[in-house]
Amino acid sequence: MTTRSPGCPASTAPPEHPEENRHMSTNGTTVAVIGLGIMGAPMAVNLVKAGYDVIGYNRSAAKVEALVGQGGRGAADVAEAVSAADVVLTMLPDSPDVEAVLLGEDGVLAHARSGALWVDASTIRPDVAVRLAEAAGEKGVRAVDAPVSGGEAGAIEAALSIMVGGAEADVEAARPVLDAVGSTVVHVGPAGAGQTVKAANQLIVAGTIGLVAEALNFVEAHGVDGEAAVQVLAGGLAGNRILDRKATGMLAREFAPGFRVDLHHKDLGIVTSAAREAGVAIPLGSTAAQLMGTLRARGHGSLDHSALMLLIAELSGRS
Ligand code: NAD
Repeated sequence: MTTRSPGCPASTAPPEHPEENRHMSTNGTTVAVIGLGIMGAPMAVNLVKAGYDVIGYNRSAAKVEALVGQGGRGAADVAEAVSAADVVLTMLPDSPDVEAVLLGEDGVLAHARSGALWVDASTIRPDVAVRLAEAAGEKGVRAVDAPVSGGEAGAIEAALSIMVGGAEADVEAARPVLDAVGSTVVHVGPAGAGQTVKAANQLIVAGTIGLVAEALNFVEAHGVDGEAAVQVLAGGLAGNRILDRKATGMLAREFAPGFRVDLHHKDLGIVTSAAREAGVAIPLGSTAAQLMGTLRARGHGSLDHSALMLLIAELSGRS
C-alpha cells in the first residue's frame, strides 16, 4: 500500500509497464477527478497543466473524452478512477450526489487506497461534510472540504477562491493540488467549516445579484444607458464582482450558465437551514432565496443565476 503524500513526486525509476510511459512527464501524483461539469472539467485541465496525472470520471462519457483530449486519462467508473489515486477530487452537484459517490457500494471509500486524500470541492451541507469526513476517516481516507468561489471563469483561469475545512496536516497535504486550481486558498477551520464559509459566500452572491438586477432595471426604466451606468457604478463604492462579470449579460438578457439557478437555489436552501440551526436572522438572504426559488419555479432552473434580472423586470411589469 502506497502512503506517498500528494504533491510529492513518486519514484523516478523506469516504468516496468509500457502503460506507465504515457505519464512519465507528470509529477507522479495521481489525482482522480469525479464530476467533470462546468467547474470540474476546467479544474481537471488545470491539474493536467500543473503536471498531475489526472484520471477523470463523469456520468456522461463525452465529458471524460474531452478531458482525455486535453491530456488527462479517462475512467469507466468511480472504482477505476480512485483505486490508484493519491488524491480524489469530487466536484458534484449536491449533498446526495457526493454521499452516493463516496459511500456507494462502488464508491470512493470502497476503492480508494488507505492514506488517500479526499478533497470535496462541491458545495454541500456543512453537516453532511462533517459526517462524510468521519466516514472517510473510519476507512483510513483523509478528508478536506474545499468548496470554491469564482465561477466558471475562475475555474478556467485557475483563480478560484477556496475555503478549506479539515485537520491542519490534511489541509497542508491538499494545498499543492488546491494551489493548482485556485489563487486564494484559506484554511478556515475543522471539517465542515469550508462549507459554512461557502454558504456565507452564496448568501452574499445571491443578495448582490438581486440588488444589481434591481439597480439595472431601475436605470433602464428611467431611460438611462445601462452600460454607462455600470461603468461608473463599478468604479465607486457600489463596485462589485457581479457588476464586473455579470452586468453586461444581464443588460443583454443573456443567461447561458455559468452557475445554474438550480444550484444557487440548492445553496440558498443550505444557507436557510444552517442559519435557522444557528438561530441567526438572514432577512435579506431569505428574500433572495424566495426570489431564486420563484425564478426556478417559473422554469428557469437551467439559466445562469444572473437571470434574477428576468424576475425583477417581470415584477416591475417590464421584460
Ligand atoms: P455541473 O452540473 O455542471 O457538473 C456536475 C457534474 O457532475 C456533471 O457533469 C454531472 O454529469 C456529474 N455527475 C453528477 N452525478 C455524478 C455521479 N454520480 N458520478 C459522476 N458524475 C456525476 O455543476 P457545476 O456547475 O460544475 O457545479 C459543481 C459543484 O460546484 C456544485 O456543488 C456547485 O454548487 C459548485 N460550484 C459551482 C460554480 C459554478 O459557477 N458553476 C461555482 C462554485 C461552486
